Amino acid sequence: MALTSPGAALQFVVLVPGKGVAGPGTQGWKYGYTHLSAGDLLRDERKRPGSQYGELIENYIKEGEIVPVEITISLLKRAMDQTMAANSQKNKFLIDGFPRNEDNLQGWNKTMDGKADVSFVLFFDCDNEICISRCLERGKSSGRSDDNRESLEKRIHTYLQSTKPIIDLYERMGKVRKVDASKSVDEVFEKVVQIFDKEG
Ligand code: AMP
Repeated sequence: MALTSPGAALQFVVLVPGKGVAGPGTQGWKYGYTHLSAGDLLRDERKRPGSQYGELIENYIKEGEIVPVEITISLLKRAMDQTMAANSQKNKFLIDGFPRNEDNLQGWNKTMDGKADVSFVLFFDCDNEICISRCLERGKSSGRSDDNRESLEKRIHTYLQSTKPIIDLYERMGKVRKVDASKSVDEVFEKVVQIFDKEG
């Protein structure tokens, strides 16, 4: 792969928000990380005129399922390449909504081939019903095809079956930094700031 970082070490934080809680996208950052959301990249690709993957992505998203890894990784890689091509110092990324399953993890390891350090995994832990009610609230204005109860319940099923084991794996590696995301936006933000002040 052509990840272009002349002389600069890549450094990554992998985020596993899992179920759709108030996350980094809504909270803003000042630690020099470029925020990339796997879901946003997929939604952008879905609406790109002429995309060969548009319909496939829409079906996966509506069903709360995980889009094939080749698509997600190629979008992430392109976004990282573009960021670093514009400014080679921008070599730190927050990758939001990734990795979401074993395939994602294997694709990541294969594509990065030891070139990217995972500094830590930020895990926003939140009760299922709170996640669902927040997303239903978001659904009043988001226009997202998966902000409805049926899709959300499927997403939680996918999370438990596929994403939670990945979090557990990173936990065993001592990489997980957990945030209680059922708290208010201000409290969650404060906790995230503490983590970045310590580790960022
Ligand atoms: P999000 O924007 O993180 O809430 O994700 C919305 C939807 O996009 C998910 O339910 C999946 O269908 C898809 N998606 C997001 N991240 C990934 C990923 N890492 N791999 C595959 N599909 C993803």
